[in-house]
Amino acid sequence: MKGHFYKRGCKCKKKSCTCGAKWTYVVDIGIDLVSGKRKQKSKSGFKSKKEAEAAAVSLIHELEQGTYIEESDQRFSSFAEQWLPIYSEAKDVKLGTIRVRLHEMDKLMPYFGQLKLKDITGKRYQDALNDLKDRGYSDSTREGINRTGKMIFRKALEMELIKKDSTEFAYLKKIRKLDFCQ
Ligand SMILES: [Zn+2]
Repeated sequence: MKGHFYKRGCKCKKKSCTCGAKWTYVVDIGIDLVSGKRKQKSKSGFKSKKEAEAAAVSLIHELEQGTYIEESDQRFSSFAEQWLPIYSEAKDVKLGTIRVRLHEMDKLMPYFGQLKLKDITGKRYQDALNDLKDRGYSDSTREGINRTGKMIFRKALEMELIKKDSTEFAYLKKIRKLDFCQ
């Protein structure tokens, strides 16, 4: 395998490590076409060497299949601002609709604005939708916010900034009549 494994930060001199440092893999991912230098990809945080090896194997598999995507460090807020004009121009959207989208984007910002796109998991996205319900936003308002969120993530996926769409399995908890009676 074109890679190696070590415990990042481990200073245990003895054979057995007691500091609890996590395993890291380093894999050659090819040559940088611009600089001509060897490019490496490393990732740490694995509990065992086996776990790190499995992750490295799957990375190498993706490289061989040509499906490997280097996820971007772009933050949600900056991508959303980039997305809006793309969305507006591609579909010749009415000004009123753009205003609505901008408003819906603003509702997502407190949750995701400062996060990197790649760090927004399906759970984080779902938690935000649930929180919006707890804050009293109506079904239709949350439907709109979710629609905008989905469009932003789908565009990021299409542009290969992220590997998976975290909004894919998101759902809206509907306000039941019962909720008002309690
Ligand atoms: Zn150690």
